[in-house]
Amino acid sequence: MLAGPASPASVMRCPCKLVENVCMSAASVRATSSTACRLAHRAWRLLYSDSHGCIELAERALAQAHRRGDTAARGWAQLTRGFHLIWYATPPEAMGDLREAQRCFDDVSDRAGQLLAEVGLARCSWRHGEFQAALQRVLPLRDEGLRILKHDQRGMLLSTIAGCYSELGDSQQAFAYMYQALRETGRGKSQGFDVVLYCNLAHELIQLGDYHQALSYLLEGLERCARLNNPRLESVLTINRIICLTNLDRPAEALPDVRRLLSLPADKDGRGAMNAHFETLALAALRAGDLNFGAELVERATHNLSGTLVPDEQATLRVARAELLLARGRWAEAAEQLQSSPSPGVSLRVRCMHFHALAAAHERLGQPAQALQALRLWQKLHTERALQASGARYQAAALQTELLRMKQELLSIDARRRSTEKARAELEAANRQLKSKIAEVETLQQALQQQATRDFLTGLFNRRHLDDVLPAMLAMAERDRQPLSVVIIDLDHFKNVNDELGHAAGDRLLAAFGELLGTHCRKSDVACRYGGEEFCLLMPRTAAAAARRKTLALLKQWSQQCETDSRQLPGARSFSAGVADSLAAPGPAAALLKAADDGLLQAKRLGRSRVLLHARGGRIAA
Ligand code: GH3
Ligand code: MG
Ligand code: MG
Repeated sequence: MLAGPASPASVMRCPCKLVENVCMSAASVRATSSTACRLAHRAWRLLYSDSHGCIELAERALAQAHRRGDTAARGWAQLTRGFHLIWYATPPEAMGDLREAQRCFDDVSDRAGQLLAEVGLARCSWRHGEFQAALQRVLPLRDEGLRILKHDQRGMLLSTIAGCYSELGDSQQAFAYMYQALRETGRGKSQGFDVVLYCNLAHELIQLGDYHQALSYLLEGLERCARLNNPRLESVLTINRIICLTNLDRPAEALPDVRRLLSLPADKDGRGAMNAHFETLALAALRAGDLNFGAELVERATHNLSGTLVPDEQATLRVARAELLLARGRWAEAAEQLQSSPSPGVSLRVRCMHFHALAAAHERLGQPAQALQALRLWQKLHTERALQASGARYQAAALQTELLRMKQELLSIDARRRSTEKARAELEAANRQLKSKIAEVETLQQALQQQATRDFLTGLFNRRHLDDVLPAMLAMAERDRQPLSVVIIDLDHFKNVNDELGHAAGDRLLAAFGELLGTHCRKSDVACRYGGEEFCLLMPRTAAAAARRKTLALLKQWSQQCETDSRQLPGARSFSAGVADSLAAPGPAAALLKAADDGLLQAKRLGRSRVLLHARGGRIAA
């Protein structure tokens, strides 16, 4: 598919053409691993997808590279800035950076960088209208470039060659190199490259006169471009769409595009930040019948841009001037405008326009011979264009097929990404649901546990819990050869409270007593509501005598608390208790409880408000 160097059929100039520039591969990024280098490579990758982010990163990388004396990073940062400036500034500004980049790459012997800087410089010549020089600069790099450059860089080199051929009027070679560039780059990794290709393909089809097909690619390109942040690329696509609509006799439809482009801020060269192509816009306005608008645009093209116009633009401006004069009935002046033939650098497309307008002027002037002569020239050029179109048909079709494949691949990548994202989102949602279910179950379990082991009224442990833990605590006490004390407490004359103050008051009193026990127990103690107005304390590593002292302190505290209570309590102002420890009452849990209970009974019998010990041998002691 890739043909060798071909001699240009003629020297031409395009209306609007971007040569794509693709990102560096990950492999080359890994090879150069300083922070500044990584930053520069990231900037490079953004060249088409985000021009603003690209230049911002490139500047940062450059500053860092300067600070650290990192020549390799400086090379890539300046290379990136140079490529950016080719489109966002002027070729001379871009060349400054590209030459600097070249020097850096020479210093660090980065051959890939050297080649790419050469490619950039070729593009600058190309932007100056020096198409042959650009081709001569870049074509000799082809074989070496294909050997040593990475995929995307190869794509960039090849598409630059394609651009040169395109400008030189060799559509066949242009399509062939564009095709190869696309294949070398790898369809899935486009990063805005696909949009550039849509633009270039449309441009080439415009040159060949296939405006319908070109328009469809431009629409596709514009749609894709909306996802990028590259106003320059968008404006090039838009200008090409204006050309298509103008030539398809639908100039009125182009007017909104014209106005939108004009609203872009102008740069210091007055060219419009995005290279306004006033002469092309003027033709659209004139053909749409808006003479004043057309005249204004001709004026702007004449005064603002004459110094910087390349051959195609100059020739288009003359046609626009002539069409304005024709519309105003100044036929002789129109013919005069077009008297000298377009220069050899002008494209077939624009030369056709020239002779078509010239024929119209002579016709109006009643000069049939000159009109016929102009028409014959127009016809000759037209035939040449048709021949070129048929010669390039095979390559164009191959490129279109490849683009279609790329589109499908991108769509399927998109679909895969979306389905992965969807699956991930579903998984996350399921996870979230699961987590909240687990939390719910845990809370429920805690509540159940609480209900199972706690007494609702006092918040102390319940009898069931006591029955559960006492055997284990006893076993542990035995193993440690330490006493475990059990205290059973019963409020005295509690019934009176219920009877005289009501059950609710009785409940409150029980809760208050529970709180007293809860706050005065050690962490290792277990305080339970044993049932009704009876309570039980388990005190590990505590002998009965010490447990008794503690219980007496509790009795004192409770009595004082009841004294300070403003209401006169009819009962429960004291309690009776029995204390036993595991050394004095060895055996199972029931025996220990029984021993403490015996103490309690004895305390009641002896008149209440006291704490009795169950001593060894079943003796009860005060
Ligand atoms: P003693 O000094 O002999 O222990 O006399 P007492 O009145 O404290 O003992 P008695 O066994 O005669 O009465 C206990 C009362 O405690 C009977 C019962 O209605 C009441 N009671 C048991 N559980 C609760 C409860 O949860 N709330 C209330 N308000 N009263 C309860
Ligand atoms: Mg009782
Ligand atoms: Mg009682």
